[in-house]
Amino acid sequence: MIKFFVPLAVIGAVVYMNRGNFGGGGMTELHSVINNAGISLPQYENNSELKLTEMTDSTVYEDPVKLHFDALLVDTHNDLIWQVYNKGADFNVRNSFTHSDIFKFREGGLDIQVFAVWIPLNKAKSSFDFTMSQIERLKKFQTESNGEFEFAKSYDDIMRITGNKKICGLIGIEGGTAVESDVENVRRFFDEGVRYIGLTWNNSNLIATSAKDAVTAGKSSGLTEYGKEVVKKMNETGMLIDVSHLSEAAFWDVMEISSDPVIASHSNCYSLNPHYRNLTDEQIKAIAESNGYIGINFYDEFLVKGGKKYGASIDDIIRHIDHIKSIAGVDYIGIGSDFDGGISAPSDLQDATQYPELTKKLFEKGYNPEEIKKILGLNFLRVFKQVCG
Ligand SMILES: [Zn+2]
Repeated sequence: MIKFFVPLAVIGAVVYMNRGNFGGGGMTELHSVINNAGISLPQYENNSELKLTEMTDSTVYEDPVKLHFDALLVDTHNDLIWQVYNKGADFNVRNSFTHSDIFKFREGGLDIQVFAVWIPLNKAKSSFDFTMSQIERLKKFQTESNGEFEFAKSYDDIMRITGNKKICGLIGIEGGTAVESDVENVRRFFDEGVRYIGLTWNNSNLIATSAKDAVTAGKSSGLTEYGKEVVKKMNETGMLIDVSHLSEAAFWDVMEISSDPVIASHSNCYSLNPHYRNLTDEQIKAIAESNGYIGINFYDEFLVKGGKKYGASIDDIIRHIDHIKSIAGVDYIGIGSDFDGGISAPSDLQDATQYPELTKKLFEKGYNPEEIKKILGLNFLRVFKQVCG
């Protein structure tokens, strides 16, 4: 299973050390450099004031596949836990019917996965308990993986785990309904390792109105008074606020209140495809101004107008990346695949094994290694470190 990963990591280490960039230091630094070759980790490992320029290097790459496996690849939205709950999928088995599992992650060079816990409507009345039970189940991924996978709670955990050649997991919640009517539940989820909460899914809740309800049911309200309390609590706790699925009115309420950068874990551009799940240019700019993050969703319905009918390809993902880059800059873009969330994926990015194809296309289109590394993971890690610690 690790035959693909180890040799590349070693090759990367040799290249890195030959460039003379290894600045010395203890074993921790040595491990980090070896296993995340190409990224100047020692420079920012102990630096709380993270600066973008410190997260990149000037390595020249001729082979985009090597660049792909050198880079830290983060996906900020995956629904595999639902497939485990609903369809009997397994993390440590090569499932025939899922976009993802540990084998596919290894093959595709994925390093850090945020698993989103989604709450079906029939569990709305017991959403806190249901979410907690899904988190319990998620945590078993770690024991099932025979030492190949570990969950992180902090930025330092992420660096340690990826430095040890393991795949790293993070936990998110898709739907503030999980918080129910007790704002202290934000802290309870945080203590269990949850690091983002999407304030709504398609259904509105005690916190806010969803994008779907705003558009299809004409609901014009934003955050409720309770929702404002929840946002403040999330800021106070170090919990990332995920605005994917949120109505525009609620979005602007969040932007007014939140003292932290805001993320959209899995959303695309409205100006390219006017779907209620996508973000307008003004929203994209506001997220960038907050120093936040947008993970590009692979669902063809969100990528192209009439998605299912025409299908989508990696070129469409890149159109959305290009657009955000042109209006806000490259520093706010990432990957929020929505794999295993019921999506139909692009024809040339059918599951997690095909991630290298995305890097190849970015490279082909003229994105430089520094930009590619930011998009593949460093942009999210910057925000994660700033907000979650
Ligand atoms: Zn979603």
